[in-house]
Amino acid sequence: MSLIQKNSALAAMLDQNMAKLSVYEHMTEADIRARIDQGALTLLANPKHTNVRATLIGQPARVKVNANIGTSPVTSTLAGETDKLQVAENAGADAVMDLSTAGDLDGIRERMLASSPLPLGTVPIYAVAQQCTESGRDPAGFDPAEILAEVAKQAEQGVDFMTLHCGLTRRGAELAQSGTRQLGIVSRGGAILARWMRRTGQENPLLTHYDDLLDICRKHNVVISLGDGLRPGAGIDAGDPAQWEEVLTLGVLAKRAWAAGVGVMIEGPGHVPLHMVQAQIQGIKRATFGAPLYVLGPLVTDTAAGRDHIAGAIGGALAAQYGADFLCYLTPAEHLCLPDAKDVHEGVLASRIAAQAGETALGRPWAVAREDAMGVARMKLDWKGMADAALDPCLVRQRSQGSEHGKECGMCGKFCAIRMAEPEK
Ligand code: SF4
Repeated sequence: MSLIQKNSALAAMLDQNMAKLSVYEHMTEADIRARIDQGALTLLANPKHTNVRATLIGQPARVKVNANIGTSPVTSTLAGETDKLQVAENAGADAVMDLSTAGDLDGIRERMLASSPLPLGTVPIYAVAQQCTESGRDPAGFDPAEILAEVAKQAEQGVDFMTLHCGLTRRGAELAQSGTRQLGIVSRGGAILARWMRRTGQENPLLTHYDDLLDICRKHNVVISLGDGLRPGAGIDAGDPAQWEEVLTLGVLAKRAWAAGVGVMIEGPGHVPLHMVQAQIQGIKRATFGAPLYVLGPLVTDTAAGRDHIAGAIGGALAAQYGADFLCYLTPAEHLCLPDAKDVHEGVLASRIAAQAGETALGRPWAVAREDAMGVARMKLDWKGMADAALDPCLVRQRSQGSEHGKECGMCGKFCAIRMAEPEK
């Protein structure tokens, strides 16, 4: 049996959405099905998320953008996060992740699922850690059964994809914490699991209970985003043994998921110097058998605090060119504080610019057509056309106010190069 045949929830969502998916992705129905069966594509669409916009991630679908939102113990409210969800959608995000770690997590998740068609992702270990601390336990004081129960509950609620750090082994955690890294473990979920393994002396429960997780996820077509708990948190750590130990395990786990009828994505590197991005992306893709790759950034410099969305967009553009499928945004608030609504808007746009640049480099027809439309509009001094072709039309309309169709803007005025190059009348 094929992956789709083993996953009746996925088969149903494909049947319901195939016509739209085929048009949007410029792919035939047969090709979409074949690539999902191979694991190269995966469909974010939990049938319990009733208004979900079914979204394909992987090759050769369009490169997608994710926005992370969610409460923190320090600041933010449900209303504020719901507002950010709308801002992300309006800015053109394809998916959102609720990374809330404070407040009524079930209620927040339910509100997000009800109020947005964007596929919703979560990191269930956050809720488990919160339950531990609220009951006076260590954040890593949980029983494996609590994780399975949380994953099952969230799947039932309609969560479309979940970050599960199943590939973080005891060996990997030891490598990351052996003193050879500048920054040991920078993933919150990874750090909680490493702490659990250190306290119990046992292997990662997400790995030892992987078959149970696959059963839950198949039932609701939850895509497992195999987490990168050991991603480099500094450029100097990129490509070290701890990172590759986890990547190799993720490849093995991807194959097990496909055999069980479950879709997966691989989460990719965080901080990667520019000259290493190509090798990292192609290496991870190769080691994980072409599974869809979901990258955070990558940040090509560690020194852009306050403007990490730019560092991430540079890495994201290169990553998209070399095969990354799904870009997780970074905002100007990264490494500093919880993003506000303006940060969310800026972050989504930065990642969309990266996706557009990467897809143009790949010659994807929709991206090239957009570049062409902008060039033609600029040549005609067609300000409406420029706004329509821009990734942020509102900003173009706002900043070009006063520029009339066919006339130059205020940047060069009477020295407008386009006007001067026109034949004299
Ligand atoms: S004035 Fe300068 S910036 Fe404005 S349209 Fe002409 S060449 Fe472009």
